[in-house]
Amino acid sequence: DSPVAVLCSGGDAPGMNAFLRAIVRLGLNRHKVPVLGIRGGYRGLVRAAKQVNGEADELVRLKQEITANTGNRGLIDAKMSIIQMDHASVSGIMGKGGTILGSARCLDFHKPEVRRSAIQLLENLGVRALVVAGGDGSLTGAKLLAEESNLKIIGVPSTIDNDLQFTEMALGVDTAVHTLVWAVDHFIDTARSHRRVMVLETMGRESGDLARMAALASGAEMVITPEGGPLTEEAMIAYAEEIESAMTRGRGHAIVLIAEGVKFDPPQSRNGAYILRDAFQKYFQREGAPFQDLEVRPSVLGHLQRGGHTTPGDCILAARFAEEAWKAILDPNGSNGITALQHNKATIVPFGCPDLPERALSSVAMDRLHDDLSSW
Ligand code: ADP
Repeated sequence: DSPVAVLCSGGDAPGMNAFLRAIVRLGLNRHKVPVLGIRGGYRGLVRAAKQVNGEADELVRLKQEITANTGNRGLIDAKMSIIQMDHASVSGIMGKGGTILGSARCLDFHKPEVRRSAIQLLENLGVRALVVAGGDGSLTGAKLLAEESNLKIIGVPSTIDNDLQFTEMALGVDTAVHTLVWAVDHFIDTARSHRRVMVLETMGRESGDLARMAALASGAEMVITPEGGPLTEEAMIAYAEEIESAMTRGRGHAIVLIAEGVKFDPPQSRNGAYILRDAFQKYFQREGAPFQDLEVRPSVLGHLQRGGHTTPGDCILAARFAEEAWKAILDPNGSNGITALQHNKATIVPFGCPDLPERALSSVAMDRLHDDLSSW
């Protein structure tokens, strides 16, 4: 009865809990395979490996601890790094943001000898496969584990940024977009009442997809993304001109979304929302300008976007990814890989898989749609 181990790594994403529930329940109910939950991502794994340190009696003690503290009992004890998951331990968690196993960053995992110790521990525990839910960095770690061991390693894209181009969607994106639409709705009330321009900074370090999707779904007038290249003074003035011109035609407010990954030329160290606010405000207050009292208010939305109630879309995707992960784990000829959504089909792609040539919601297509839908 060799178990499957699961961990969440890197930035948390809504949908991780729904995924854990699905991987555990499918394991127990459909496949009759036990599931071990590793707490705190790779860090928890490394911590357990250090604790055992290759000693046979320490390994026996760890195994006993895992069995003695199955499920919720293990989850409430902060000292436990590895827990045998049961039906109850994933009860009532589907819609909850974050992850009950906890997530972490673990710089040590970049060292081959540290990964070796983690692999050794998993082998000693008789683990047949490791499932890693996380973003780009976590999946790179998983790829290395796949290359360096005989374990089956399955990655599950979980990141609100949607910056993984081999899948249409990652876990967490749908919920984060939902939260951003909610946020924009709130900011619009003030923007309208006070005739203001709101500059809202979204997450998205490498990709502007989250900002784009939020703009499409909320009707935000402008969206500025890293794909557009570094933002120059002239480009910011061009945006300000566009807003001023809309105001001249009778518009009363504007919502501008800027992704956190947008760079500036010359480079800047402050948040993009503040830089844009200063540039806009300076432009609106120039001598002889028609709307000198037009106020620009910046807001960095930050971690708000990572939490909250998981949407049905993410819960369903989590279930589909979990089913796909199990298929790959149990297929004797199946290889390591990452669950992905391609052309609305859940599938497994190899680690290092090239980008989907045409994502259903490509960035370019979204930009075009947004341009035409939000013309003002
Ligand atoms: P995310 O998975 O959300 O992109 P990070 O980039 O911080 O988050 O990665 C999460 C963790 O994955 C890191 O703290 C590290 O433990 C592991 N990781 C990331 N990149 C690598 C790498 N190149 N080699 C080994 N492990 C890595």
